[in-house]
Amino acid sequence: MEFIDLTNIKNVTDYNKLEVAGEIIKKGGLVLFPTETVYGLGANGLDEEAVKKIYKAKGRSSDNPLILHISDIEMLGQIAKDISDIEFKLMNAFWPGPFTIILNKKDIVPSVVSGGLDTVGVRMPDNEIARNLIKFAGVPVAAPSANISGRPSGTNIKDIYQELSDKVDCIIDGGSTKIGVESTVVRVIDGVVHILRPGKITVEQITEVAGTPIVDKHVLGKLDDGTKVMSPGMKYKHYAPKTRCILVYNENYEILKDKIDETIDKYLRDNKKLVLMCLSDNADYFKDKNVTIINMGNSLDEISKNIFTDLRKADSFNADLIIIQGVSTKGLGLAIMNRLLRACNYNIIK
Ligand code: AMP
Ligand code: MG
Repeated sequence: MEFIDLTNIKNVTDYNKLEVAGEIIKKGGLVLFPTETVYGLGANGLDEEAVKKIYKAKGRSSDNPLILHISDIEMLGQIAKDISDIEFKLMNAFWPGPFTIILNKKDIVPSVVSGGLDTVGVRMPDNEIARNLIKFAGVPVAAPSANISGRPSGTNIKDIYQELSDKVDCIIDGGSTKIGVESTVVRVIDGVVHILRPGKITVEQITEVAGTPIVDKHVLGKLDDGTKVMSPGMKYKHYAPKTRCILVYNENYEILKDKIDETIDKYLRDNKKLVLMCLSDNADYFKDKNVTIINMGNSLDEISKNIFTDLRKADSFNADLIIIQGVSTKGLGLAIMNRLLRACNYNIIK
């Protein structure tokens, strides 16, 4: 297995170390690599056999499609067709960046990538390691988040080494990822943007470029069995620690504090071992309680950056319950609440 350390880039020539990783992709191997959102588990997106290895390594359901990552706009023409003006406008505004757009796929894209759909998700990442890797590979790189399916996504190598290192041919360490939640996934239907997965690019930002988007109701709502969805990923368990989690949220901050307090006391009375994931001021407020506290930070950017590491850390205490403080769904809060609701299996106290 190849290990490439790019945690300390001093010079643009350091990116040449990625040539060997590009070769591994070309030859059908699997590479763990950083993007600005989360780490990806990448393979040649035009090679059916290579892509199958991703599904196997993650234990991912074969109907849950993968995003193709491109290094430049020329690659887009290879894989997608019938692109509308509004779609180009969105790509221009948010690429390179944490933004994925679902487009009609060309035949060259194997159906294993698209989970049998006639569309493909495409993203141009804003991370020099990721884009240089794709350039060296010379092909679009299919890459889901680097984690075993259902588990929190990987945002640094340490968190995912144990679960994935024996399943890949190359690991690229680029340090902790900048954003921490995955890309915003959209699809344009009849000129209207639908948000299928919220991410760093917010409703507010999309509104400025392409009018008010529709946030798919499954972004915050639980899916009933058998419901038809626009994005297969909505159907599956996601981001979940092994420990049971419960989310607590109220828009009134004082009530929210009381609810957290009541929840802690209720479970302490039953002698439960508790972890509390909360914002900085509450980490201080609840410090004398008999709970293990994980401070999620005090800004949405900070919470987002650490969210998956915090969930993994919370899990490591082998507690009976993880109590998690929620946030407002404004801006980046929508992506954070989408991840937390799913980590908690929609178990929320309001
Ligand atoms: P991940 O691979 O973990 O970043 O998740 C990618 C998300 O994008 C999943 O929820 C997929 O279901 C979704 N996705 C990828 N390609 C498509 C597509 N062609 N149509 C709808 N959703 C897609
Ligand atoms: Mg994922």
